[in-house]
Amino acid sequence: MDGRLSGATVRIIMASVLDLIGNTPLVEVTRIDRGACRLFLKLESANPSGSLKDRPARTMIEAAEADGRLKSGGTIVEATAGNTGLGLALVGGRKGYRTLLVVPDKMAREKVLHAKAMGAEVVTTRSDVGKGHPDYYQDLAETIARRTPGAFFVNQFANPANPQAHETTTGPEILRQMDGDVDAIVVGVGSGGTLTGIGRFMRDASPKTAMILADPEGSVLAPYVETGRMGQAGSWAVEGIGEDFVPPNADLDLLSHAFAIPDAESFACARDLLRAEGVLAGSSSGTLLAAALRYCRAQAAPKRVVSLVCDSGAKYLSKVFNPIFLAQEGWSPSSHACARPTSRTFRSSTRAGTSSAWSTRATCWPPSSPRATIPTRPLRARSSR
Ligand code: PMP
Repeated sequence: MDGRLSGATVRIIMASVLDLIGNTPLVEVTRIDRGACRLFLKLESANPSGSLKDRPARTMIEAAEADGRLKSGGTIVEATAGNTGLGLALVGGRKGYRTLLVVPDKMAREKVLHAKAMGAEVVTTRSDVGKGHPDYYQDLAETIARRTPGAFFVNQFANPANPQAHETTTGPEILRQMDGDVDAIVVGVGSGGTLTGIGRFMRDASPKTAMILADPEGSVLAPYVETGRMGQAGSWAVEGIGEDFVPPNADLDLLSHAFAIPDAESFACARDLLRAEGVLAGSSSGTLLAAALRYCRAQAAPKRVVSLVCDSGAKYLSKVFNPIFLAQEGWSPSSHACARPTSRTFRSSTRAGTSSAWSTRATCWPPSSPRATIPTRPLRARSSR
C-alpha cells in the first residue's frame, strides 16, 4: 500500500515514518493578489522532519547502501546545520546508523537542537573561515569522514542522488497534482537539488514549464543568471537558499528568469502567508513566495504557477515571527509586502543598514548571455542547508 487512492493522498497506516516522506499536498493561494495567475504551493513542510530535504536525505542514504558506500554499523557524515542534517538524522536514525553533523557556530539553534534530539552527534566549528581552512565546516566534515572507519561523506552539493530525489518524486507529484498543466515553477537554490531535479523532470515531461529562480539579495546566483558574470557575495538572513558559489548540483541552464529578493521582503511574505492563508512557512519560502508573486503580477495572460513551502515556519519562530528580532534588524513586523503589492511605502533595510523601497527594486532577469567560468568551490559558509 503506497497510501494513495484514486489520485488523492490518503494516509492510512504506514510501516515506518519514512513512508511519510513525499506525496505532499498542494494548496492554492487565494487571499493574496496573484494578478491574472493561479498560484499553488507544495507543502514540503509536511515531510516528517519538516522540510523538502527529507526526500534527498533518504535517496542519498539508500544509494550509498545500494552501492556499498554505507554498510551496517556505518556513520553518516555531512556538513550542515540545516534541513539536510535533520533529514539525515531522521532517515539515518530510523535505519540504525550513527549520524555526525558538522555545524558552523552561527547556525539556527532550533535546528541544531532538533538534530540532537533525533540522536545526531553535532560537531560545532567556526563560521568565520572560508573554504580551504581546516576548520571550515565542509573541509572539517571531509576530514572527519576520512578518519572515521565506516564513514559515508554525503556531500549534498555534488551527490547525484540529491537531484534524483526531486526528479523521481517532487517533479512527477507536481505535474500529477496540476493535471499535467503547469506554466512555471518557482524554486530556490541551496545545493541545487530541487532546481535540477524538478527542472530535468519538467524538461522531459512538460517542456512548456518555465523554471524561475527565487534568490536572496546578496547571493551570487541571480546576478550570475542575469549577466553570466560571477560577482562578490554579500550576506543575507534567509536560511537554506542563496550561494556564494555555483554548486555542482545546480544546473542553472534550466532557469528562464531569476529574482533577487531582499531579506525584509522575504520575511514579510512568510508572515503574510501565515496571516492570509494559514500556512506556517520558513524564511526561504518567503523568498519563493515573493518571487512567485512578482512573476504572477507581471503576467498579462493567466498562468498556472507552482512554488514550494520548503520548510516549516516553526523552525524560525525566534526570527521571522519574532518582533524583537525584526526590530533588531530594523524591519517592521507590521509591514505587509505581499498583502499590499502596490504600496510604495514599504521600506526594506539591508543587512548593511541602507534602505530602499522594495517595489522600485523588483528585478526580473532574462536568461543569461554566455557565462563566464563557473567556480564550483564554496568560498564561504553562508546559510544553513
Ligand atoms: N529552503 C530551505 C529552508 C532549505 O533548507 C533548502 C536546502 N538547502 C532549500 C530551500 C533549497 O534546497 P536545495 O538544497 O535542493 O537547493
